[in-house]
Amino acid sequence: MKIGFLGLGNMGGPMAHNLIKAGHQLTVFDLSEAAVASLVAAGASAAPSITELARSDVEMIITMLPAAPHVKSVYLGEDGLLANIAPQVRLIDSSTIDPMSAREVAAAAAEKGNRMIDAPVSGGTGGATAGTLTFMVGGEQADFDIALPVLQAMGKNIVHCGPAGNGQVAKVANNMLLAITMIGTAEAMNLGVSLGMDPGVLASIINTSSGRNWSSDTYNPYPGVMDNVPASRGYSGGFGSDLMLKDLGLATEAARQSRQPVILGGLAQQLYQTFSSQGNGALDFSAIIKLYNGAIE
Ligand code: NAD
Repeated sequence: MKIGFLGLGNMGGPMAHNLIKAGHQLTVFDLSEAAVASLVAAGASAAPSITELARSDVEMIITMLPAAPHVKSVYLGEDGLLANIAPQVRLIDSSTIDPMSAREVAAAAAEKGNRMIDAPVSGGTGGATAGTLTFMVGGEQADFDIALPVLQAMGKNIVHCGPAGNGQVAKVANNMLLAITMIGTAEAMNLGVSLGMDPGVLASIINTSSGRNWSSDTYNPYPGVMDNVPASRGYSGGFGSDLMLKDLGLATEAARQSRQPVILGGLAQQLYQTFSSQGNGALDFSAIIKLYNGAIE
């Protein structure tokens, strides 16, 4: 398929590379010349601007941008995609943004006659490179079915979550819960160890008891409990605390707009904001245990 790809950063770059590997013809654009050059070296064509990309001979355009303001300006701006694409061009936004903004952009696309889905991902840069991302998709079933083979070139687990915006709903709800379980696990591990438990024994009890969760049995935040997790390498790599803070901001904003209580989600957002303000935003999100115990390295 002839695909336009816009936003070739840490995630979009490897995703676009996987589309080329799967045999798709790519036309790409990014503000970073280096990011574009890497894709051109792999066989993509470079578009000189968003307008030119929108007017090029593509059947589908995928965007992978930092946040909602970028998505709105790329889609809704005067020189943006919607003002310049032909009606048959299909649109996929894989950026993580709030559900309301996703629905606003999808509605503007529908008004122009363009089919659009939101398809945020989980799996991080490792999953983007390996082509094993999870895609959470919001939009019409028929549009999901057409996008599926393209998404399968970049991911393994591709789930239709319902109408426009629901991909973002699934993403923010899951990541809010992940933050809450990580903080809870860090709190319990620190309490137990400070009261004299061996961290490995405590983790094994939790992981065969009712406190078990993904943060305790797959990504334990206490150093030395598990191999090959950020806690065992100084909290480097993994999923940065600032990225978790961004997703918690989306969850609390969506809750504000829909007047739903997110009591623990709001607290989690404040804890990650505190942690980030102390200069820890680049550390993996499991490093939040340092808020409980500054001696943990
Ligand atoms: P990134 O900052 O590495 O990449 C974003 C790219 O968009 C950059 O190359 C930037 O130059 C480009 N860009 C920004 N404005 C543009 C514009 N107007 N026109 C063209 N290009 C523009 O970010 P990332 O880590 O690739 O994340 C992208 C999205 O994926 C974010 O919404 C993020 O929340 C989400 N996400 C990231 C991860 C992760 O682990 N990095 C995991 C899941 C989801």
